[in-house]
Amino acid sequence: MTSRAITRRTALGSAAAASTLASLSRPVHAVTQSDVLVIGAGLSGLRAALDLQEQGQSVQVVEGNKRVGGRVLSLYDVPGSPEAGGNGIGAGYGRMLDAATKYGAELHNIADRAPLMLARDLVLDGQKISEKDWPDHPKNPFKGPLKKIMPWSIVPVLASTKNPLGKNYEDWYDPKSFNLDISLADWLRQQGLDEAAINLAFNTNVDHGQSADEVSALMIFFVYAWGNMQRDITPRATYAAKGGNMRIPEAMARALKKEVHFNKAVIGIRSDDTGAEAVCADGSVYRAKRIVCSVPTAVLRTMKIDPLPPAIQAKAIRTLGFQILTQTHLVASKPFWNEDGIQPSMFTNSLCGNVLAQHFGKTPEEVTSITCWARGWQAAKLDRMPEAEAKKAVLADFERIRPAAKGKVRVAGFKSWYKDPFACGDWAVWQPGQVKEFILHLSKPHGRIHFCGEHTALSNRGMEGAMESGERAAQEVLAGI
Ligand SMILES: Cc1cc2nc3c(=O)[nH]c(=O)nc-3n(C[C@H](O)[C@H](O)[C@H](O)COP(=O)(O)OP(=O)(O)OC[C@H]3O[C@@H](n4cnc5c(N)ncnc54)[C@H](O)[C@@H]3O)c2cc1C
Repeated sequence: MTSRAITRRTALGSAAAASTLASLSRPVHAVTQSDVLVIGAGLSGLRAALDLQEQGQSVQVVEGNKRVGGRVLSLYDVPGSPEAGGNGIGAGYGRMLDAATKYGAELHNIADRAPLMLARDLVLDGQKISEKDWPDHPKNPFKGPLKKIMPWSIVPVLASTKNPLGKNYEDWYDPKSFNLDISLADWLRQQGLDEAAINLAFNTNVDHGQSADEVSALMIFFVYAWGNMQRDITPRATYAAKGGNMRIPEAMARALKKEVHFNKAVIGIRSDDTGAEAVCADGSVYRAKRIVCSVPTAVLRTMKIDPLPPAIQAKAIRTLGFQILTQTHLVASKPFWNEDGIQPSMFTNSLCGNVLAQHFGKTPEEVTSITCWARGWQAAKLDRMPEAEAKKAVLADFERIRPAAKGKVRVAGFKSWYKDPFACGDWAVWQPGQVKEFILHLSKPHGRIHFCGEHTALSNRGMEGAMESGERAAQEVLAGI
């Protein structure tokens, strides 16, 4: 499903961009000039822009959306302002923590709330299976000691205890590790899991790709080695911005001397010996000595890039995988979980996916909202429906599993990252073989165009990866300007 949609988008995007770029010599709108143009006001773009501004460059940021933050999206109108995007800020997120302090977003440590969110019940085919009954349950497909482990912990346990990278997470992009760039499914088979076990442990609520066959084991080793490093930092901490993580990019944007230009969807970028320019869907043109482009690859592949990047980089942009992910945020008028004996959070094999209760009230115990994470097959199903229908489908599924919730929950927020034209999906997913083929090429500067974004980060992931990449792109620009 994903690849068909991408092809259609690519074709449309390229055609539109090509016709606009063809008219570059006589722009229909005034040309805006700066030293550096940054495309995208997510964390990576804002970090690049602020670093460059500090070094005396005049920087213009253009943003396709009408807000800053990109894949950091706090739902301010849902109780507790839950995150529909970037969530936990780890204890080792130095750049994120610095940015919050430097630009004035207040943080709080939510480490005591995270375990409450993750305490969940297993619900398979609509039936709760208790942790006590799980080891001997007929639906348990695991063997030996793994039988005692709940399905959502199987991959974390294996990818932590048997991780070939050990603690050296940065080795993931070292050619000496490229023999590990096989599918996660193959690696899980090597660990003794059969298809039913892989299906329940990974594919049912998939967090990278569409299935274990479509994600590189090497990427997963990096994810866990890096994540465990964050977890093991003492004192233990997970931070969030008070009022919502979007407060951080908002504070960063306020520190820019030139205001972000919103609703500027870039459809084409060009670089030559004299400078670089970007053309927006509304016909406006931005010229600069250098461009920093922070958009995800699933968006970048819809843009016209002139001249074309080298073949291997172009292939990376065209084919790098991404997560499809759709969230439904529910708010309960009554604590129905006291009636049915199932915890507010659940791991299900149904449409509502992995259900996580949010605890952003006055006390850690208070459940402010409940997020249904649909990824992989669930997200693909929901993304084929109009939004109103998808919301109804999730709610109906939730109430089917938990009749006690009937009439006591409403859908208060909904976000499909795949349908968002400025994201076209969630985090980058390196497919088997792609680390080896692309990692040294994807983020290389192309003429006067520099690339950042979480997909280009090497040493960090998520929000911290985005910041790392913005910092790196700014340094490249300064070296070249
Ligand atoms: C559901 C979810 C949960 C997450 N959880 C975590 C977590 O717990 N911890 C963590 O560290 N990370 C997490 N992340 C990941 C983290 O949010 C992202 O890695 C990070 O925010 C990406 O930043 P970025 O700058 O690379 O990209 P983006 O935030 O996507 O920024 C790109 C910007 O470019 C703009 N843009 C796109 N196309 C165009 C165009 N054509 N013209 C102009 N502008 C354009 C976009 O609107 C956007 O503002 C999560 C993400 C999601 C979605």
